[in-house]
Amino acid sequence: MSHTISVTIEAGVAAQPNELGLIICKSCNEILATLPTDGYKKFYVVCQACARKENNKEASE
Ligand SMILES: [Zn+2]
Repeated sequence: MSHTISVTIEAGVAAQPNELGLIICKSCNEILATLPTDGYKKFYVVCQACARKENNKEASE
């Protein structure tokens, strides 16, 4: 079974007062980006560094 996690995050999005959406890496808990959302929301993703780490972990059995 192969699963690929690819995350595309636009960097350089202008910070706005209503940017309550947080994109958080569920592996290292780092806030990767913020989003202008209606209300406080969290989006859990895996950042590229952690995705690479997990791939290596799976590959090296
Ligand atoms: Zn991470």
